[in-house]
Amino acid sequence: MSLVKVENVYKSFNNAHALSGISLNLEANEKYVIQGTSGSGKSTLLYLIGGLDRPTKGSISIEDKSLADFDDESLALYRNIYVGFVFQFHFLLPSMNCLDNIFLPSKINGEKHPDLAKRVSDLAERLRITHCLKKYPFELSGGEQQRVNILRALSMKPKLLLCDEPTGNLDIENTNIVIKLLTELSNEFKSTLVVVTHNDKVASSFGKSFQIADGKLV
Ligand code: ADP
Ligand code: MG
Repeated sequence: MSLVKVENVYKSFNNAHALSGISLNLEANEKYVIQGTSGSGKSTLLYLIGGLDRPTKGSISIEDKSLADFDDESLALYRNIYVGFVFQFHFLLPSMNCLDNIFLPSKINGEKHPDLAKRVSDLAERLRITHCLKKYPFELSGGEQQRVNILRALSMKPKLLLCDEPTGNLDIENTNIVIKLLTELSNEFKSTLVVVTHNDKVASSFGKSFQIADGKLV
């Protein structure tokens, strides 16, 4: 069974098509790359799969449940439970220290997550950001902020880990560290990994790749 099924999805903004009939399947526990030039629709596709927005036409289902049947509250719950997002531009709240940023997703539906604190401290060590946790985002380098983002995205052990150009503004050394960790951690957590990237070297380190041009798969 596919984890994610995207069927003939369109997305328009003010009558302009960002996506024009995309269909694809994502299997559980696999790794995918999405490539395409700027403006081709990569982020839009990722947001729709992650339930951050809804398609204009077509359907997206997760484990055979259509996201169209979810009201806004259920969609928020889906994002919280299933999806970890690493955004292109660091999305840490500037008014909170990194640890509070990382714990934010776990606070959303009021459930207890007994092994969370230990998982966060283990992950912080592996991502080499233990020294960053009590600091505010602006006190960190770009590479450190991105690793905090990755930790936050992984903290809930998401089935789907969606990364929008996660290495876009990192140097080669940090790019290699981030890609290696994304691969290792998605293996460990059995998360399906989807990475949007411009970087051919990053793309070649993953198995399956989708190419997007003008809102269509090519
Ligand atoms: P990519 O991530 O491949 O660079 P995007 O998915 O961000 O491309 O954008 C695809 C197209 O949709 C672009 O033409 C972009 O301007 C447009 N677009 C994306 N998001 C919005 C939005 N919120 N409002 C209006 N247009 C948008
Ligand atoms: Mg984009």
